[in-house]
Amino acid sequence: KRSLAMMLALVLMLSLAACAGGSSKGASGKGTVGIAMPTKSSERWVGDGNNMVKEFEALGYDTDLQYGEDVIENQVSQIENMITKGVKILVIASIDGGALTEVLQKAHDQGIQVIAYDRLIMNSEYVDYYATFDNFQVGVQQASYIEEKLGLKDGKGPFNIELFGGSPDDNNAYFFFNGALSVLQPYMDSGKLVVRSGQTKMEQVATLRWDGATAQARMDNLLSAHYSSENVDAVLSPYDGISIGILSSLKGVGYGSGSKALPIVTGQDAELASVKSILAGEQTQTVFKDTRELAKKAVSMALSILEGSEAEVNDTETYDNGVKVVPSYLLEPQSVDKDNVESLLVESNYYSKEELGL
Ligand code: BGC
Repeated sequence: KRSLAMMLALVLMLSLAACAGGSSKGASGKGTVGIAMPTKSSERWVGDGNNMVKEFEALGYDTDLQYGEDVIENQVSQIENMITKGVKILVIASIDGGALTEVLQKAHDQGIQVIAYDRLIMNSEYVDYYATFDNFQVGVQQASYIEEKLGLKDGKGPFNIELFGGSPDDNNAYFFFNGALSVLQPYMDSGKLVVRSGQTKMEQVATLRWDGATAQARMDNLLSAHYSSENVDAVLSPYDGISIGILSSLKGVGYGSGSKALPIVTGQDAELASVKSILAGEQTQTVFKDTRELAKKAVSMALSILEGSEAEVNDTETYDNGVKVVPSYLLEPQSVDKDNVESLLVESNYYSKEELGL
């Protein structure tokens, strides 16, 4: 009896270990693709990872999918392990884009090519391709939404706005912010948009690791220091997790109840909680980046590399990582608010009606 129990425990342990490793076998043993993702704490990266695994496996590749959980050292050692295991190619969405120079040198020494996934890897000549969305355009879409909803083009204003940026170690964060400022700056200069905190530089508004709690704490401070007698009309938020933090802060001081309306709050990624929040009339907008399409693009880039041919790109000018301009493929982001949730997210099967409570 006892040995049966021990055997069962062993079987259970072995199957648990197999799951935790994130490795999986493809059909015809063409070799393993190493996929390093930043964190499971944001749904989009879970989707990205799973979508790539599905695509690579369908093509007969094994995959080793790992999440660094926003700890730089984890990600570096996960990539080192993949190199030691002899993966055929690496697809990496970095945690800190500037922290992979040494490990990419190791990959290069082993003849392993690298695709930067969504986030550019900086300071390395061994980034072969970059698959991403038009990141500047993401910021333009967030800011244009604010511009339109406030009626700025029609000369309305002045309005109060506060700005949030993404993680300062993520190259994308600067593209989002600069894209947004390309729309907002003229109104800030003319006084139609007023940033009461005066915090308008990326280094003042950045949110390390895109952390919602950090953003919430900053919003608490902004509200208590600058908005005791004024209301905030719009908040530029670069990412849904940050938007949720900002909204908690706002609701905590009474926005969204009585006569005090919630400001316009933007976002990015169309995460489930944020899409529900949009439908409930809290968050106002998000930017949908179809991770299924990005995964497909990265997989087709990887295939081209593995077959010894050149991958298709549509941008060879924008993404300078400090050492080289990385040939890139940029997909188009799409702005979402309550009016097009169904047409963009439900009809494309990104979410079901049930998931959204529709
Ligand atoms: C991605 C965004 C995401 C953010 C936080 C960025 O690099 O491009 O889609 O919202 O990271 O995870």
